[in-house]
Amino acid sequence: MSGHGGKITVLGAGLAGLAVALLLARSGKRVTVLEQLEGSDGRGTGIQITPNGMRVLAALGLFDQVREIGAEATGVEVRDHLSGRLLAGIDLSRHGDSEFPTMLLIRNELVRLLALAAQSAGVEILRGRKVVGLTESGGTVFCRLSCGSSHAASRLIGADGLHSRARELLNPNEPPIRATHVAWRATISAGGGDAINAGTVSLVVGPNRHLVAYRPDSGASINLVAVLRTKHPFEYHAPRISDFKGLLGEFADFGGRFGELLSNVDSVSRWALGSAGVARNWNSERVAIIGDALHPVLPFLAQGGSLALEDAWVMSHKLSIHQEFTAAAAEFRKVRESRVRKVALASSRQGWIYHFPLRLPRNLVLKALHFGGRLAPGLGTFPFRWIHDMDVVNDPPKENTDQASSLTQIGT
Ligand SMILES: Cc1cc2nc3c(=O)[nH]c(=O)nc-3n(C[C@H](O)[C@H](O)[C@H](O)COP(=O)(O)OP(=O)(O)OC[C@H]3O[C@@H](n4cnc5c(N)ncnc54)[C@H](O)[C@@H]3O)c2cc1C
Repeated sequence: MSGHGGKITVLGAGLAGLAVALLLARSGKRVTVLEQLEGSDGRGTGIQITPNGMRVLAALGLFDQVREIGAEATGVEVRDHLSGRLLAGIDLSRHGDSEFPTMLLIRNELVRLLALAAQSAGVEILRGRKVVGLTESGGTVFCRLSCGSSHAASRLIGADGLHSRARELLNPNEPPIRATHVAWRATISAGGGDAINAGTVSLVVGPNRHLVAYRPDSGASINLVAVLRTKHPFEYHAPRISDFKGLLGEFADFGGRFGELLSNVDSVSRWALGSAGVARNWNSERVAIIGDALHPVLPFLAQGGSLALEDAWVMSHKLSIHQEFTAAAAEFRKVRESRVRKVALASSRQGWIYHFPLRLPRNLVLKALHFGGRLAPGLGTFPFRWIHDMDVVNDPPKENTDQASSLTQIGT
């Protein structure tokens, strides 16, 4: 057993890493963040942060700034891929938490806000530091850097995303991740399409494919994510610049206004999607993992970023009340495990509903949910309520509580 004292290293300056670094610095710790990138990742991809994540951003004092850089989501509409016809609609103003909306954002902008806040709180962010090896020995965690030097940490929080070195250290025998889906992430500049109203998240579902489109800033550009379930899982690859052919070829039968939208794409990157599942080992004496490093979730309920923010809040809270690092990490696991497993499972099931191969049953299920929701909007029929209502700031989850009211739902 070991105390964490006042000095902590965080690996990764993404949402989880920057949020936990900021919170730890505010509680009086000396925090250093190691980040492989020199600047932003330059991709300009969109991200939806739902009320559960917005509560954490508000508690960080960033609510107004996040509202300034993003657009509030007012509704979700689900459409048929051939005709573009509306199958289901959710008015988020009737169902959501009015104090904490879902925000549509450009991820890099959100990361920039968090980095500025962390630096103002005294966090040291060391960029261009790619960790290529981690070892734990003699009371120290040694981070070997690609430039040849190394960084010694007394305690380390691994927030280094999907291909986490920290997760690898704690779980050395995991098989490599196999990708099950391909996602094309594209942007369409202003005037590129009238199909998407400001504030609306449009979801178009088809056999083994769906696409999501929304305007992440004050209406100028459109963010598009097109996901294809692959027949054969393939070796994972890092996001890469892509041409339009793959995207247009796979979604050629998407009709209505969405077919037109696809033909207006400006730039596109190709991502491999998959999940290693929730890690078996969450911590050692000196290392703990959070965010995607701990529990990568498929993006079908738009929850990876919000879960990362929830983790950051709970981890920093546990470290502030437990002197022993291992005690804090064990408490973190007690309150988080049930939650992250349920959201991961629900996200995978959501993909199954979207991608159901038969058009008629898929559309009927979505329509039935739509009319159920219209008839009884106040009776908990809003399918994401149990996810969005999580309030880790004021009402930390009790261990082993069942937060899921339903796992069969429609979503983004
Ligand atoms: C197509 C798609 C759409 C998505 N849409 C949404 C959405 O709408 N809403 C949502 O909430 N989530 C969404 N997600 C998921 C979300 O992006 C992630 O869950 C979230 O970014 C996880 O945050 P993180 O901080 O744990 O990891 P990351 O954001 O991946 O950050 C990890 C950081 O660690 C750094 N790093 C990694 N390895 C090293 C190393 N060896 N050395 C140094 N630094 C390192 C990386 O450069 C990065 O800065 C989506 C994901 C995809 C693929």
